[in-house]
Amino acid sequence: MTIECVPTICPYCSCGCGINLIVSDGRIIGQEPWKEHPINEGANCPKGKNAHHFLYSEDRLKTPLVRKNGKLEEASWDEALDLIASKFKEATPETFGSLGSGKTSNEESYLLQKFVRVVMGTNTIEYVGRLCHSSAVAALMPAVGSGVMQTSQPEIELADCIFLAGVNIVETFPMIARRVLRARARGAKVIYTDPRQTTTARHLADVHLPLKAGTDAA
Ligand code: SF4
Repeated sequence: MTIECVPTICPYCSCGCGINLIVSDGRIIGQEPWKEHPINEGANCPKGKNAHHFLYSEDRLKTPLVRKNGKLEEASWDEALDLIASKFKEATPETFGSLGSGKTSNEESYLLQKFVRVVMGTNTIEYVGRLCHSSAVAALMPAVGSGVMQTSQPEIELADCIFLAGVNIVETFPMIARRVLRARARGAKVIYTDPRQTTTARHLADVHLPLKAGTDAA
């Protein structure tokens, strides 16, 4: 039996914590936090600690499913790919659209939009970021000139005032929430807008502004 430690990045959220996968004879049997990694400093949240269980879960789909007579049925890859190819051939630029995932890499996203524009002949391309990030870009561009995060995670601890707009950071980015907690322990004030009474509202924010539901993404 061989056991090796494979350093990698936790794929569960965008904190980007370092993890070490424990691999025995090619099978992942456990996970340990990457102790020297600057983002997580030797810790991982419960989600990251258990993320590797998805890989061998009984509930994980292992074959394509094709809907037949209104019911999804297991199919071979050849059958599924033939069906997809036939649907691509049937589609016209007016009837085709694509939805991209937030889990695709930059390169995969580039290929997807290229395929849709050049092969399918349409600009009907949508992706998850339209909902979750475009409102942030609309605010960041005029304020700081770029649509991406303007600070490194460790620098969050140096802030005197932290404004959280609609992000339930305690549950969605636990390792970043830890840095906000450290800033708060130094005396920083945390202001949080969200219509919901989240864990962040209850346990992290000094000021919670509960906007009217439906107006927070405006
Ligand atoms: S905060 Fe948790 S889920 Fe997110 S990257 Fe780190 S360990 Fe993974």
